[in-house]
Amino acid sequence: MAEKRAVTAAELIPGVIAGIDAIKSTYGEWDVHPSMHVDPDALRSVLSELTSRLDDAFPFFHPQYAGQMLKPPHPVAVAAYTATMLLNPNNHSIDGGRATTIMEREVLEQLVTMFGYNPDYLGHLTWSGTTANLEALWVGREINPGKAIAHSKDSHYTHSRMGEVLGVETVAIATDSRGRMDLGALESEFATGRIGTVVVTLGTTGLGAVDPLADIVPLAREHGVRIHVDTAYGGFFALVGDELDAEAARHYAAIPLTDSIVVDPHKHGLQPYGCGAVLFNSQDIITYYKHDSPYTYFASTDRHFGEIQLECSRAGASAAALWTTLKMFPLTRAGLGEIVAPGRRAAMLWHGLVSESDVLQPYQVPELDIFAYLPRVESMSELDRVSHAIFEMAADTTRPQQTHLATYVVTAAQLAVRGIDLIDDAPTARIMRSVLMKPEHEELVPEMHWHVEMWSRRAMERELG
Ligand SMILES: *Cc1c(COP(=O)(O)O)cnc(C)c1O
Repeated sequence: MAEKRAVTAAELIPGVIAGIDAIKSTYGEWDVHPSMHVDPDALRSVLSELTSRLDDAFPFFHPQYAGQMLKPPHPVAVAAYTATMLLNPNNHSIDGGRATTIMEREVLEQLVTMFGYNPDYLGHLTWSGTTANLEALWVGREINPGKAIAHSKDSHYTHSRMGEVLGVETVAIATDSRGRMDLGALESEFATGRIGTVVVTLGTTGLGAVDPLADIVPLAREHGVRIHVDTAYGGFFALVGDELDAEAARHYAAIPLTDSIVVDPHKHGLQPYGCGAVLFNSQDIITYYKHDSPYTYFASTDRHFGEIQLECSRAGASAAALWTTLKMFPLTRAGLGEIVAPGRRAAMLWHGLVSESDVLQPYQVPELDIFAYLPRVESMSELDRVSHAIFEMAADTTRPQQTHLATYVVTAAQLAVRGIDLIDDAPTARIMRSVLMKPEHEELVPEMHWHVEMWSRRAMERELG
């Protein structure tokens, strides 16, 4: 075994392409049809145009990008995806993707173990967290027809939108001063008898808030409500319960008691986009998937993913990339856990620095690796102007000096429940939000904080005089 070191896609890709070419060569040579030929000079120029056009983006790959939930995949995933894509298996059916269907089953078992779900689970990878959630809400509708979906006001907007798609009423439950679903408000809704499924978010997209799952489980069971957990963003924090607040850890520990769960390997699982997952804690729901297809399933009688998913074609390369990544970074505290834990520590570190600042203040204590904060100003309109100016100014300098942040919209009432009272002269205002999802962020926090404080002072000077 060699010592661990950083690897690049450029170093890994030639080897895997050679491996795939070796497979192809065993079938004998053939001539590529002339219609598929290209002019190499023209192509070089188009590819060069492509790379220069791709420069029109925020630098998601750099630790100085601490804005939205964006980062490139690990080079291991890129190499595995590239190799597999050259064969382009389709995990809709075993015939479409023999090797990658088996890899997908293996990664699903690892996800099931991470969440403490039933070994007799049902589930699969998806193209996205959106389709994964849609599928869980659809099953909820089939089981509790005519009943509504409850989700928190801070949950992902996909839940109310998918309620519309499914023709199911949705009810937004109030959140508390930490952005978590309010138990009392949820219980009142349960008491009406109209709720069929509750969506519990562990790691809201905006603030990384953790809904009180452990307390929701007994209430939901009492009222016969299905429990769907949306951990599209926060799922992999299940590996680092020791880094979380005791409360948040208690709610993650309740995951095994729920009915379905969604996680996005394309968020915290080091994967390229196109990799979500949905898991059901029992196979009983398989009856809802019954359908016949005359043209796909023939060579194998084993279960095809197409028989238990809403989507049809799906990239076998996604399963292969995740499989390879988890070989290098298993779903353990010492594996992928070591990659997500520093972001959580970075958020706490930054929260500590901002709490001491004379120009900035925290919006709330982070529960995962998302930190929201704001300049110390007098009114909502000032807050909005200064926040936007910080966002713009911090990114508007020479590239190595840039800091990339994001903003988040709040109301005066949401600030007030957090003890921040501003003159209510505008319905909403932007505050600052940073997703610290790269392990490199931990070390960079003091420097980023220094920069953000400096830009905040300048933004206040520019906007408020
Ligand atoms: C990102 C996210 C989604 C949507 O998933 P996509 O993969 O973007 O389609 C849903 N819920 C939560 C909590 C998320 O963070």
